[in-house]
Amino acid sequence: MAQEKTEKRSLSPEELKQRLTSEQYHVTQEQGTERPFANRYWDFKGKGVYHCLVCGNDLFGSYAKYDSGTGWPSFYEPLTSSAVEEHEDRGLLMVRTEVVCGRCGSHLGHVFNDGPEPSGLRYCMNSASLDFEERDDEGRDLRGENARGGQKGEV
Ligand code: FE
Repeated sequence: MAQEKTEKRSLSPEELKQRLTSEQYHVTQEQGTERPFANRYWDFKGKGVYHCLVCGNDLFGSYAKYDSGTGWPSFYEPLTSSAVEEHEDRGLLMVRTEVVCGRCGSHLGHVFNDGPEPSGLRYCMNSASLDFEERDDEGRDLRGENARGGQKGEV
């Protein structure tokens, strides 16, 4: 597992450019944002798990996906607290919290404090950073005890 992690991290920009579409590359490696309501998963209701497109890390379960009305896939929590990392983003003249893959560092989206119960959080993701896998449990079996749900307001 650790070896796989190292391998993924060592993918060069050239290798990633070959593997990813230009939009996937722009979003995951250059902090880009895809268009709302015109992306793969914003209105997708499949039961399963969303992986990091770049490294395959388990990120979100469909159990936590909800309709935020924003046109981007939105979740109230990641599967575990280590699935993603959060950083202050001072771009675009506002301070936001950027969300990146906890394993490979690819840009995923941002997290906001206006989400639904139980967490009060809105993980606003780019479909271009995600890869869906069907699972009957909707990811619940992969959910860690330390998932963010229930820690309202803590970002
Ligand atoms: Fe990743």
